[in-house]
Amino acid sequence: MAQEPKKRHSRARQGKRRAAIKLSITAAVICKNCGAAHISHAVCAKCGYYKGEPVLKSASAKSA
Ligand SMILES: [Zn+2]
Repeated sequence: MAQEPKKRHSRARQGKRRAAIKLSITAAVICKNCGAAHISHAVCAKCGYYKGEPVLKSASAKSA
């Protein structure tokens, strides 16, 4: 049987929780290919490389 919340949270509590989520900044790392800062565990927006390999078709055509 699934666990259910006993009481619903007020809109104020809901807003406080969501505000904290928005405040947290995702970790930025430097791209191995172009050296630009990008979000970790994500494809580089500048060159389209991930783990040193071209992932996006348009990006690989630009760099080549
Ligand atoms: Zn890059």
